[in-house]
Amino acid sequence: MKITKLEPIILHAPVTRGGIADSTHKLTHWGAPGVAIHTDTGHIGYGFSGTHAHLPTDRLIVDCIINSFGPLLIGEDPQEVVALWEKLHKQSEIYWVGRAGITHLALGAIDIALWDLKAKAVDQPLWKLLGGSAKKKVEAYNTDGGWLNWSLETMVSDCKRLVEEDGYRAVKLKVGGPNPREDLRRVEAVRNALGPDIRIMTDANGRWTLPQAIQTAGRLVDFDIAWIEEPIYFDDVEGHRRLAQTIATPIALGEQLYMASQFRDFIQAGAVHYVQPDVVRLAGVTEFWQVADLARSYSLPVVPHVGDMCQVHQHICFAHPACSLLEYIPWLRDWMEKPAQIVDGFYVAPESAGAGMTPSLKALTEINKI
Ligand SMILES: [Mg+2]
Repeated sequence: MKITKLEPIILHAPVTRGGIADSTHKLTHWGAPGVAIHTDTGHIGYGFSGTHAHLPTDRLIVDCIINSFGPLLIGEDPQEVVALWEKLHKQSEIYWVGRAGITHLALGAIDIALWDLKAKAVDQPLWKLLGGSAKKKVEAYNTDGGWLNWSLETMVSDCKRLVEEDGYRAVKLKVGGPNPREDLRRVEAVRNALGPDIRIMTDANGRWTLPQAIQTAGRLVDFDIAWIEEPIYFDDVEGHRRLAQTIATPIALGEQLYMASQFRDFIQAGAVHYVQPDVVRLAGVTEFWQVADLARSYSLPVVPHVGDMCQVHQHICFAHPACSLLEYIPWLRDWMEKPAQIVDGFYVAPESAGAGMTPSLKALTEINKI
């Protein structure tokens, strides 16, 4: 099998109720800039990054994929995924301008497309190729009921519906609003509505200073919270280490980390309990796997952040022993040929060949912004 052509794609999908917010971000659409990698056998591999649908920035990512990395892939065998990852990652002209950011997001989308091709070439879903087991259970927790711009009433009723009608046993709430007492009131209201047996996660999206986090996150223990996610600034290893030594609620983070070495630093420092790599911010499945192995060696659970809207991560979670819980957000499901399926709060192991990011015909013909 040989790579013959790279074709750019940019998808923008509307988020729930036309706009969501956490303490740090506001967005109306989720962006999926990426690539279709064509081959001489007729197989096509698809891989995407995940963004806030800012078109000029998405075009930079796609341009890096097509024009910086693309010429290095033509004629190569896409099944040599790890060797190709190493080849692209060693391109000093490209990585000179950024070991993180656009270059790394571009490599991530390419890596996903290559794994997609490798799985399609043997007509298997990616999780089987990675060594997975259909007997494994991958639980879903839902983030789409707890946005910071939802009123308290909407948030409570959304979370109740997710639990009582859709079968979820875990939901995530955004915190880090301007008034910490209001944060705690919202968490308390959901805890009271859902009862003691449903797990509740919280996420401050890097908003607090260390003393604010000590004060507010320190009180989450009263509501039996599963974790506080990104309590302080994303890259602050020492701050998270100090916080982990101070509060009883476990710390989750990783969605803003680009490299396996950054995860090593947080893990070695004892600054994280739930490790949250994202296959679209790390450079694809290849680098994600390194992080999941690392976390496993420290007995830390891996609970991915779903910048891919869970399409690829579901495969990884069925395959990797460190992953048994996976976030769910539904925004890309209308644009994927086979959107992830959840029954009674658990992912259903995908049966179609590939890595899960093949867009629907409608997405390619009507939504593609190229
Ligand atoms: Mg988060």
